[in-house]
Amino acid sequence: MTLKKCPVCGKVVNGRSDKRFCSDECRIFYNNALGRTRRARNQRQLKSIRSNIMELERVDAKILLRILSWISKVFKIMSTFAKDKHP
Ligand SMILES: [Zn+2]
Repeated sequence: MTLKKCPVCGKVVNGRSDKRFCSDECRIFYNNALGRTRRARNQRQLKSIRSNIMELERVDAKILLRILSWISKVFKIMSTFAKDKHP
């Protein structure tokens, strides 16, 4: 049987076969570090999602401006027709 070592301090882990850490201190330290890593990753993902949403909104705004400009051109053309009919 190989001796299992604590992933935090490297000491030999004694006790149940599924025990991972040598002490509560090491287990808590490990889980806190894991939590920090996960929170940091979640923050990065949130930031990326936010920037994607902002980019999509910018694209939407550009498309909307193009549509409005197109509509105003159509109205200008229509108004010239109206002037021709009723001078
Ligand atoms: Zn340990």
